[in-house]
Amino acid sequence: MARYVGADCRLCRREGAKLFLKGDRCYTDKCALARREFPPGDAGKKRPKESEYRLQLREKQKTKRIYGLLEKQFRGYYDLANRQSGVTGENLLRILETRLDNVVYRLGFAKSRDEARQQVRHGHICVNGRRVNIPSYRVRPGDLVAVAAKARDFLVIKTALISSQRTEVPQWLEVDIEKLQGSILSLPERTQIDLDIREQLIVELYSK
Ligand code: SF4
Repeated sequence: MARYVGADCRLCRREGAKLFLKGDRCYTDKCALARREFPPGDAGKKRPKESEYRLQLREKQKTKRIYGLLEKQFRGYYDLANRQSGVTGENLLRILETRLDNVVYRLGFAKSRDEARQQVRHGHICVNGRRVNIPSYRVRPGDLVAVAAKARDFLVIKTALISSQRTEVPQWLEVDIEKLQGSILSLPERTQIDLDIREQLIVELYSK
């Protein structure tokens, strides 16, 4: 699956919001957004024209970038969310949250979603006792996500656990730090997803 390989901090500066793409650095004064709070590029300091379309587009781009997805895959998730019953925007966020790479990040086994994706791809994560190396794998209530035995002593996981102590594990998950495993208690409710996303704008954009 193709992915963005450019500078992460440019994405935050483009959206004018912290997307927390670089782990620990995002919480320090080295954060690029704190130092240069204007969009990248020559036209960065010019104030862009506000329009309804621009707001919708930026919200979609921001969400896509938080989860590290490209347009095709993100659009596919939207179509899936639209086919489900319930509120499309909330369905979309629920689908994104239940991706395995996001769950590994939320459980604190990785410092960023990008790092979590690497761990999954390298076979360091098991679901219900079986190795799963597909970052987009979607977990379900009752699943058990664990760090594989061979990866338990990896420094990258230990440092992630230390840095993850600054954020809480969401209520729809339960983590056992000693065993390096976590359970999916339920599907996430919108109120349990602590992201500043106006998902309705994404729905409006794609519904045009
Ligand atoms: Fe974004 Fe983190 Fe870079 Fe700050 S340090 S701009 S939050 S990726």
